[in-house]
Amino acid sequence: MKRAYNFNAGPSAMPLEVLLEAQEEFLNYQNTGMSIIEMSHRSSEYAALHAETKQLLRELMEIPEDYEIMFIQGGGSTQFLMTAANFHTKKYAAYVNTGVWAKKAMAEGKFYGEVYEAASSADKNHSYIPQEFTLRPDTSYVHLTANNTIYGTEYKDFPKFDVPVICDMSSDILSRKVNVKDFDLIYAGAQKNLGPAGVVIVIAKKSFLATAREELPTMLKYSTFANNDSLYNTPPVFAIYMVNKTLHWIKKQGGVNAIAKNNAAKAKLIYDVIDNSNGFYKGHAAPEARSNMNITFNLATPEMEKDFVAKGKAAGFVGIGGHRLVGGCRASAYNAVPLEACKALAEFMEEYMKENK
Ligand code: PMP
Repeated sequence: MKRAYNFNAGPSAMPLEVLLEAQEEFLNYQNTGMSIIEMSHRSSEYAALHAETKQLLRELMEIPEDYEIMFIQGGGSTQFLMTAANFHTKKYAAYVNTGVWAKKAMAEGKFYGEVYEAASSADKNHSYIPQEFTLRPDTSYVHLTANNTIYGTEYKDFPKFDVPVICDMSSDILSRKVNVKDFDLIYAGAQKNLGPAGVVIVIAKKSFLATAREELPTMLKYSTFANNDSLYNTPPVFAIYMVNKTLHWIKKQGGVNAIAKNNAAKAKLIYDVIDNSNGFYKGHAAPEARSNMNITFNLATPEMEKDFVAKGKAAGFVGIGGHRLVGGCRASAYNAVPLEACKALAEFMEEYMKENK
């Protein structure tokens, strides 16, 4: 069986071991005579899986006991709305505009009150992470995007604020160690580092949840999920099952620190080719803001980029074209992308450069 070198931005590569295990038990989960997706979400088998998934997240991310862990549907995009619906309760909400996803979050905030940019990297096409922030009095929260999937920038250290901090970690959750205590609410769609699309992991401080607006429709309230162990309605069973397996896999790799080390080594292979190419490849992100998840670069012209992506595809590299809104090239090297795939891409980039210089 030949597996592609998968650099898709999301949904994206899953660990082969996880896929094989799911395949093996798909028809008969734990001798029940049925698949995990055919049984009640109130069954003892599913209940055990649900609880273990939360426990694994707590352990791997060192989530303190005064934080809730929730499983919610609707993708990161619904979190743009839910965070604002629940917590935009003062005059303003602040957003750090580091690109498309941050702006989309901000647009949802407007439904619940005034919003403003605490900082923006728009002046340089979001190639850096702002370092200076201005907050107004009467600000409900500040919203950050940990990793900017489209531009390939990532906070190295998170700024501190004296208002609650909400952070979108959709494209770098569990790729490196973060201090959960520095955030009041973290959310992340599973489909990049944790599993298939269909579930969002939400981690929120209980005392922050207690400040939420209550007069909201049931499914928009975090309290509905927190008070019912994310089982108020049918959870996305299959997605959670795959997240569970991926978390076991992360643990087997040595946990988050081992994963982070591997991710840094993987990204470096590609950044080194860019940096040693004498400008043949131009990295989009400022070096100090470079993401280890999404490596973005340009070639001399859009035509060359098209040719690079096409030749790459022919050589087995999938997903190396840039996002449709910004063009260029992007290799997404999420947790499950093996070091060998990054090595192979680095070699392909060297070859392509030799042939096209
Ligand atoms: N936030 C970030 C950082 C993303 O990269 C994405 C999707 N690529 C989203 C939010 C939106 O997620 P979804 O498609 O699950 O709504």
